[in-house]
This record gives sequence, structure tokens and C-alpha cells, in this order.
Amino acid sequence: MSFTQTYLDLPADFYTSLAPEPLAQAHLVALNRDLIKLHQINLPDQTILDITSGQIIEGMTALAQKYTGHQFGYYNPDLGDGRGILLGQWQTPKNERFDWHLKGAGRTPYSRRGDGRAVLRSVIREYLASEALYALGVPTTRALAIVSGDEQVWREALEPRAMMIRVTPTHIRFGHFEWAASQSPQHSQTLADYVIKHHYPECASEPKPYETLLKLILQRTARMIAHWQSVGFNHGVMNTDNMSVLGETFDFGPYAFMDDFKIGYICNHTDTGGRYAYNEQPNVGLWNSQVLAQAFEPLIESADIRQNCLNDYVETYNQHYVDLMRAKLGLTNPQDKDKLLIADLLICLDKHKVDYHVFMRSLANLDQPHDIWPTSDDYQAWLFDYKQRLKQETLSESERKELILKTNPALVLRNYIAQHIIEQAEKGDREIVDTWRQWLASPFTENPEWQPWIQPPHSHLKGQKLSCSS
Ligand code: AMP
Ligand code: MG
Repeated sequence: MSFTQTYLDLPADFYTSLAPEPLAQAHLVALNRDLIKLHQINLPDQTILDITSGQIIEGMTALAQKYTGHQFGYYNPDLGDGRGILLGQWQTPKNERFDWHLKGAGRTPYSRRGDGRAVLRSVIREYLASEALYALGVPTTRALAIVSGDEQVWREALEPRAMMIRVTPTHIRFGHFEWAASQSPQHSQTLADYVIKHHYPECASEPKPYETLLKLILQRTARMIAHWQSVGFNHGVMNTDNMSVLGETFDFGPYAFMDDFKIGYICNHTDTGGRYAYNEQPNVGLWNSQVLAQAFEPLIESADIRQNCLNDYVETYNQHYVDLMRAKLGLTNPQDKDKLLIADLLICLDKHKVDYHVFMRSLANLDQPHDIWPTSDDYQAWLFDYKQRLKQETLSESERKELILKTNPALVLRNYIAQHIIEQAEKGDREIVDTWRQWLASPFTENPEWQPWIQPPHSHLKGQKLSCSS
């Protein structure tokens, strides 16, 4: 067993030490055996159950982190871990450290009016979405275990209380830097030095470590958002306190993997203005990056240099997005007009309300039209252009097919599927969450058991929106 708590290296005002509020008579709802193996976690299942239900073990020091952030465009100085606490870091035999963060652990000084608790519905959604994104190659936090019990929590109705352990190298958010900047230049420097020491050691040997740090954080953020766009993922609450400095998908709320492709899709039904709509995500990523760059002012005096980092975000995003989409179309030799080919396709899918995932995968086989293909002239024109474009490729037909099948998943965690899993789990099914976790871990290789789940959903199941309540 090996836990540490490196956050204690920071000054005491960066956090509040406190104990979790345990969940009585808890049982395991999910246990991520893939992650246990990957991180070589040699703890008995019972110990993981105990930790996930609020027990502190040797080496851990539970604490709530202080941060602030911009929520829907407005600065909120009162944020921090309000219903999750950092237990410590699991140290692997290879000396890598991973935060274990207990979500739903009870009230903290940063809970504001909240109860500090989490419900089974929201932790199942986070557990499965993070595993689904991970399998798609999208940078993301992951989750180790979920427990639930008889306690109920009031949201829009009474729901079962649950807790979950989230795992990632760090829980430091853009909002931590915003808070530090609001305190003193020394706070900013202390935080940046900690982040460099533990998470960006390559910056330490650079002539201007803080510039490199900002640049790398923004590059990773740009790449993450390019990934979201390519896999049709709408995060839904891209507040700066939900942005990890590692450029990982973080804090899953009312997210959605799209059904029909809709450029302006809004998964969060409380986001009436569409600030965090699917097509806004790259711009919001830039807006959030501007907030972070501003918080770096005490560390990087020159506005021009900070602006360079922001320009680099835009370039990284554009490059990465086109590369990812090219692969999804089975293309490998970059050409300038690929951007147009991608844009024309998305306009067409949006116009004809075509299921994004089923459509993209259907391109593996061009021998005959698929039911999902629009019969319209604009689609026929696009298909013609695509076939012309394929003539400039060096990949063989079978290699192209293979590339499409390994970049476009057959199985997607659509919201109606997540809802089905949650309902079964709430009724007491203790297998279903991990069955789906395993399925979503290899979404490209079709499994006969998936048959009911891999067609475009019925219209009444499509595009389900969720509220922020979790
Ligand atoms: P989120 O919308 O989950 O990103 O949360 C935004 C802020 O509200 C964070 O500071 C959370 O810790 C806090 N928060 C969210 N839900 C609760 C809750 N049920 N109890 C206490 N704090 C919460
Ligand atoms: Mg959050």
C-alpha cells in the first residue's frame, strides 16, 4: 500500500483538511478492474469499498482544495471542492502518482448551499463517460469505484446517494490559478512551481519555465477539445473550474455524445443561451485559455508572450481537429482541401439530421448505399468528392476500411443508454455498470450482444438533454 499527500507541500490556505462523511452500509456498484491493473493497485476489494465509502487509510490526508473560477462567464470567488475531497495520491510501483478524489464525500467549507453529496445517477454517468472517452483516445480523468447505499438525497426527486473515486494525476484546475492570482504573486508562483514539479517537469529546465507551462497547458487543452469535436462529445459545463491543467476531460455533468449530428447542439438544458453548445466548445476553450493566461500575469509579464500562447492554442486546435477528422474519413495523406470536405460533410449531416456515429462508420463500406445515407443531391455531391479524394490516397481499400473501423466506434454511450443503465442499477442490478464499462472499453470491435444498442435511436430517445443537478 502506498499513498502520499503531496498537496500538503502547499501553504495551508490552499486547502482545508477534513474527514469525509461516510456512506453507511455501502455496497460496490462498480469496480474498475482495468484501472486497478493499470495502476497496479494491490488493495483488497474490501479496502477499496471502505475507502470509497469514506474510510481514510494510512498515508492519506483528506482535504478540500480551494479554487475559484468563471461560471457561465462570471467570476465566482467562492468555489472549491464542495462535495469532493482529495484523499491523497496512489503511488504505483513505477513511482507515478495519481490523485484519488472522493466525490460525494459531504460538506466542506466550499459547499455553499449544497449538501456535499452525489447521487448514483451522476456518478454512473461520470464513471462510464470517462471510460468511454478513454477508449476513444480522448484525454480524460478516470474513475476507480462507485459505492451506494440506502441513504437518499433530494435533487429534483429523491435519489440514492453514492460516492465515487476519481483518478487523475492532478485535480488542479484553471480555477486554482485564478484563485492564486487573486491572492498574491507569491501564490501564483508557488502553485506554478508545484505544477511544474509534479506534472510538467520538462518546464523546469526551460529558460522561461512559466511561459512553457502556459503554452503546454493550452496545447493540451486545444488537443482535448479537438478530440471532443471529432467524437461528437458535448461537455455541457465548460466553466473554468471544470478545466484541468492537464487538458483532460473533467467534471462530467449533463454531457452528451451526439445522436443526430447537430452543429449547435446543447446538451445542458439549463444553458438556454447555448454558451456551451457543441460548436462553441473550441471558442469557449479559447475564452477559458484567456482567463488562464490572465491569471498567469504575475508570472509572465509580457502580454505579447501570453498572446503567443493563445495563438498557439488556435493553431494546435485547428491542426489536431483536421488530423482526427481525416483519420475518421480513412484519409492519411493531408491535403489542403480536406478542411472543406470535412465542413461540407458536417453541414450535410446537420441539414439532414443524420446519426453521426452510425454514419461515420458506414463509410467503411462504399460498395452500396446505406439506409443512413441521405438521398439528397448535396449528399451525392459530397460522396462524389469523397470518392475522388480517395483516389489521391495511398491506402488500399482494405486499409482504408480498417482505419475507419478503428477510428469510428460501433458502440457509443448515448444519453438514453446511460439512462437505461442508471435505471437498472437503481433497481439493484450490480453487474450492469461494469458490463457496460467493459463494452465501452473496446467500442470498435462489434459484439453480438450490442445489437439492440448500435442502431440510431428512435426519435423520442434522441438528443436527450439533462439538467446540471448531480
Ligand atoms: P460543478 O457544477 O459540479 O462543477 O460544481 C460547481 C461548484 O459547486 C463546485 O465548487 C462544487 O464543489 C460545488 N457543488 C456542486 N454540487 C454540490 C453539492 N451537492 N454540494 C456542495 N457543493 C456542490
Ligand atoms: Mg466542477
